[in-house]
Amino acid sequence: MFKIGCHLSVSKGYLHMAQEIIELGGNTFQFFSRNPRGGSAKEIDPDDIAAFLEYTKENGISCILAHAPYTLNACSKDEKTRDFAFTAMSDDLKRMEYTPGNLYNFHPGSHVGQGVETGIGYITDLLNRVLWEDMTTTVLLETMAGKGSEVGSKFEEIREIIDKTELSDKLGVCLDTCHVYDAGYDIVNDLDGVLDEFDRVIGLDRLKAIHLNDTKNPFESHKDRHEKIGEGFLGADAISNIINNERIKDLPFYLETPNELPGYAEEIAMLKKMRKSL
Ligand code: FE
Ligand code: FE
Ligand code: ZN
Repeated sequence: MFKIGCHLSVSKGYLHMAQEIIELGGNTFQFFSRNPRGGSAKEIDPDDIAAFLEYTKENGISCILAHAPYTLNACSKDEKTRDFAFTAMSDDLKRMEYTPGNLYNFHPGSHVGQGVETGIGYITDLLNRVLWEDMTTTVLLETMAGKGSEVGSKFEEIREIIDKTELSDKLGVCLDTCHVYDAGYDIVNDLDGVLDEFDRVIGLDRLKAIHLNDTKNPFESHKDRHEKIGEGFLGADAISNIINNERIKDLPFYLETPNELPGYAEEIAMLKKMRKSL
C-alpha cells in the first residue's frame, strides 16, 4: 500500500488530524509533539484518543509520526537546553503510549563547536535515559543536511548513535530527501547507490519513514530549505524513482513541503498518479 501523508497541526486534536488527512487524500500524517519552538505539550484528551483510534481503524490509517520540536537539542553546549531535551522527550514518549506502536522522530542536534564525538556522546546519554524496555514507540533519528554543526548528516554518525544506545532495538531512521541530497548523497543520479550505502552503514531494516521534500538548493549545499515536489533540485523524476523504489516503496512518506492544506492535497494527488502501484 502507498502510505502517503503530510505534516498537520495538532492544535485541534488527534481525531481532527485523522479526518483532515483523509480529506486531503492521504492515509498517514506527521505532527509536532509540542510547539515547534518548545514549551509545553497539549494535554492528552482520552475521549479524543479513543475516537481517533476508532477512526484510524475504520479509515485505514496505519501509522502516525510525531516530530519532536526543532528547539530540542540533545547535544547543546548549554546544560539547560540539554535538560529541556530530556524533559520534553521523556514526556513526549510517555504520551506516545496513548497511541501505541507509532513513530517519534527527532533531529540528533547541533554540537555547536564541541565536536561530533562530544555531540554523539550527549545524544546517546539522552537516549539511554529516555528509552525503556516495554515502550511500543520506535524513535527515529532524522538524517540531516549538515547545516552549521548538525550531527547526523553522515550515515556513519547515525550508525554510531545506534551502536552506543543500550536499547537500540527501539531506534530507527527517518530519511529526509531534501536533507540527504543537501548533505551529499546523490539520490537524483544514483538512488540505488545511496540505498546500498545506507544498507552497508546502518542497515535498511532501520529505515522506518521518509520525509519527502524537494530542495531549494543544489547538491551538497548543506542548506536545508524544503521546496515543493518537482519544483526544486530533485525534480519530479527523482521523486517518482523514490516513491516507486522496491526497497523503500512500502515505507510511510511524509510531505514537509512549503504548502497550506490545498497545496498538500494537490501534491498527494500528484504523487498517487506517479506511483506505479497504490
Ligand atoms: Fe525534521
Ligand atoms: Fe524532515
Ligand atoms: Zn528540513
